[in-house]
Amino acid sequence: IDPIHVVGGGLAGSEAAWQISRRGIPVILHEMRPVRPTEAHKTEGLAELVCSNSFRSDDATTNAVGVIHAEMRLAGSLIMASADSHQVPAGGALAVDREGFSQAVTAELEANPLVEIRREEISGLPPVEWGRTIIATGPLTAPGLAEGISAETGETALAFFDAIAPIVHTDSIDMSVCWYQSRYDKVGPGGTGKDYINCPMDKAQYEAFVDALIAGDKTEFREWEGTPYFDGCLPIEVMAERGRETLRHGPMKPMGLTNAHKPDEKPYAVVQLRQDNALGTLYNMVGFQTKLRYGAQSDIFRMIPGLENAEFARLGGLHRNTYLNSPVLLDPTLRLKSRPDIRFAGQITGCEGYVESAAIGLLAGRFAAAEVLGEDMTPPPVTSAFGALLNHITGGHRVSDDEPGKRSFQPMNVNFGLFPPLDPGAIEKPEGRRFRGKEKALAKKQAMARRALADCAAWLGIERAADAAE
Ligand code: FAD
Repeated sequence: IDPIHVVGGGLAGSEAAWQISRRGIPVILHEMRPVRPTEAHKTEGLAELVCSNSFRSDDATTNAVGVIHAEMRLAGSLIMASADSHQVPAGGALAVDREGFSQAVTAELEANPLVEIRREEISGLPPVEWGRTIIATGPLTAPGLAEGISAETGETALAFFDAIAPIVHTDSIDMSVCWYQSRYDKVGPGGTGKDYINCPMDKAQYEAFVDALIAGDKTEFREWEGTPYFDGCLPIEVMAERGRETLRHGPMKPMGLTNAHKPDEKPYAVVQLRQDNALGTLYNMVGFQTKLRYGAQSDIFRMIPGLENAEFARLGGLHRNTYLNSPVLLDPTLRLKSRPDIRFAGQITGCEGYVESAAIGLLAGRFAAAEVLGEDMTPPPVTSAFGALLNHITGGHRVSDDEPGKRSFQPMNVNFGLFPPLDPGAIEKPEGRRFRGKEKALAKKQAMARRALADCAAWLGIERAADAAE
């Protein structure tokens, strides 16, 4: 059998190589370190964790990242096995001894007779003669390869910075304060009238909000990241600093909007949220990319009328991050539509985080192996954590109707907002009384987690998730 090439021996590439070798197929893994370093990696180990040593929550009953851990374990993940055997105490989180973890992944792949590791930089798009290839070169993809990818996909298809606006769970927005309306009631093709949610502010609320943005605790760019500010992509707090009226004439302008609850009262400013996924379970805050620290973001954004109890699927950020416009460029099994011999995996596809990158590597490896073996390549069901994340990357993202061509795909961690809503009756109500406090939200998470694991196990051909986990 011809080998499958994997470019990049990070979280995704290592997992992809492992999954391919488990199917008896040879792999050539090309990793440029130590021949060429990146700005963030410090060692020559495979699957190096460049910053924190945490894989986040390991709770597979109420947390989406815990669920994806469990799904990866079911699928025989090398990354999860190495993390489990190098765990350090961290409460409910799965944290690892970073050296031990990376060394375990490296040793396992080095000892694998089906895996050949070549320490070399791949400086252009891999040639067709290579046959099947997975590119998993991460957020710091070396420039030569990035240029090769851009040349193939078009200049704007590969971004070098993310500019992430916070994303809110729709069911945590107070619709007795907010209302659905597109500016000037424009409805684009496929529009549902629910494209935007609007949050009104009076003058005092606006002034207090501007003060909070200016005073808020901010993060700095790392020296090697540069400062990627360009017009149309300024952090919200930088706009606030430029003048007290800047936001009111920019992303918070009230023009063309009428408060459905108080039609006679003109709002002084309006925060708009745009539907973020096809399911309508998530909305992003338009123009709210930010370098505010996470704690400051939750506090300040909950000052916005209607968002007092907002639950954030993710907070905003601005980082150096190389990633593709995947919903347009990749097919549902992560193949580049214009060069189906090439798959992408890991953070470069537009997922975010160690675990998510490894999970997408796992899927890319399985798809590539199935393709070689002439097996079924049906993607995992969207009700599983694997499927929900994959769907965010390859399909589920909502392209803005009223701004055709505007690129709005942004990287995302796995979260329950990416999962389809539950069937009615999936949540068991407490007998003889109503839900108390946050009981319903918890029951919803538990039901989503149960459904995910059962559906993932079925997809993997395992009868019951519980049996498999034992
Ligand atoms: P990587 O793990 O970066 O692997 C890519 C590999 O490809 C690297 O080993 C690189 O050397 C190699 N490579 C690149 N170009 C080439 C080439 N042309 N030829 C051959 N090899 C090449 N996520 C978290 O969950 N927690 C965090 O704390 C966290 N901190 C981060 C901090 C920084 C500075 C950055 C940039 C990202 C951080 N992330 C974090 C995000 C992300 O989860 C990690 O970057 C993760 O490692 C991505 O996995 P990956 O496999 O896609 O890429």
